[in-house]
Amino acid sequence: MNTAEAINRLNDLELKEFAYGHAMGILSFDDETVAPKGSYIPRGKTMGVLSELSYKLTTGDEAMGLLDWLKEHVDELSDEDRRRVEIRDKRSRQLRAIPVEEYVAYSELINEASNVWREAKNNSDYKLFEPYLGKIIDAQKRFASLVAPDMDPYDYCLDQYEEGLTQDKCEEFFGSLREHIVPLLEKIKAAKPIDTSFLEVSFPVSAQRELSKKLMELEGLPEENCILGEVEHPFTTGFSKYDMRITTHYYENNFLSSMYSVIHEGGHALYDMHSDDRFVFTSLEGGVSMGVHESQSRFYENIIGRSREFVTLIYPELIRLCPKLAAHSAEELWRAANVARPSLIRTEADELTYPLHIMVRYEMEKAMMKGEVNTSELPEMWNGLYKEYLGIDVPDDKNGILQDSHWSGGAIGYFPSYALGSAYGAQLLAKMGESLDVRETVKKGDLKPVNDWLEERIWRYGCLYKPAELMERAFGGPFDPKYYTDYLERKFGEVYGL
Ligand code: ZN
Repeated sequence: MNTAEAINRLNDLELKEFAYGHAMGILSFDDETVAPKGSYIPRGKTMGVLSELSYKLTTGDEAMGLLDWLKEHVDELSDEDRRRVEIRDKRSRQLRAIPVEEYVAYSELINEASNVWREAKNNSDYKLFEPYLGKIIDAQKRFASLVAPDMDPYDYCLDQYEEGLTQDKCEEFFGSLREHIVPLLEKIKAAKPIDTSFLEVSFPVSAQRELSKKLMELEGLPEENCILGEVEHPFTTGFSKYDMRITTHYYENNFLSSMYSVIHEGGHALYDMHSDDRFVFTSLEGGVSMGVHESQSRFYENIIGRSREFVTLIYPELIRLCPKLAAHSAEELWRAANVARPSLIRTEADELTYPLHIMVRYEMEKAMMKGEVNTSELPEMWNGLYKEYLGIDVPDDKNGILQDSHWSGGAIGYFPSYALGSAYGAQLLAKMGESLDVRETVKKGDLKPVNDWLEERIWRYGCLYKPAELMERAFGGPFDPKYYTDYLERKFGEVYGL
């Protein structure tokens, strides 16, 4: 075999892997959106068959032999193909290190844990979920010891979601956030409160659907390649740059919820839709990490979508769709959309207090993975951290430790990427501002220059660079959380007139 033949085989393999993923993804999306309840029976069968075929394809002798050959001939490969080999190698090391029986047992555990978590949350009964959480933590520790025996187990978890992220980096990052956010929040508490009551105006769902269309148009999401579904908890699924699905949930008395969901999920979609054409159907297509993905979605949701210019821009459309809103000015709406107030639920938190919710989870995960806390003590720890960071009392576990689905799905180490993404976004804004008047372009309702800038520096690279390297290239220097804390201080200073 020569290099050209090997790359052809790699292309062929990755196309097949894409096809299985695409088919299974469509089934899941269908399940989340329009599939009838009873469809779970055939879907379960089909999913079982497809996931087995896909697992065999990726871990089979042919794929592994090809990978070994490519690793031996890595010097003959282009930078792009070398990165594909690196990505495959990392994934296959995991698959090879974890015995199949353990992998299957873990999948079953997760399946069960997700169901139990839902019931536990509904009944606010942590005791029900506790044994499952204990087993999930044990499994994560075990996997870390098998796959990366030289690595700290929690660093291993962090690396799963943001390649290269470590506790050292988190400590520095969160430390600097706490230093700035806590005093800023104190000042806000002493400032004149912002009226948000009018946000509960009845905004018919049919009118909100029209608004979503307008928002997608503004953001630059073409209908031919991106559709909007309606679900309980919004998410984005990207199959290829030609097929993106975003979702939202409409609440008649909370139009901002869907408005910002659409803008947020749209940011994820834009990123996935603009990988370089060369990467289509290969492991380089799509977003590189959760942190970078969140940097794009949060950039659109908070930095663009919650800016005074954007709210002013969309205001006439809001008034047209919901005339009752006209009793309040665009300026009042902008302030109300940016209210900062400590609250219990992460997904409903405002831009300023959001990272504090993440810090609570980071401290918890660190302690769990280090074995510094018993599972029985976790709710107490959670409640104590909410009191310390946000100054609020948690009334029950439903509104406390049981609120997020992540841990029940085995996602330990995921949360920090949300906060990191917000900080990346602020530094991108600063860099963008050197060559583009961002406020002016938003004011004009033309987001194309913003999209072009992001495409040029982030989107088109897909998974070619590791997340930290990609961001450093875009920033033209190292990551610095100061851009984020400066941004927050400036913005909330303006909102609250501090
Ligand atoms: Zn997101």
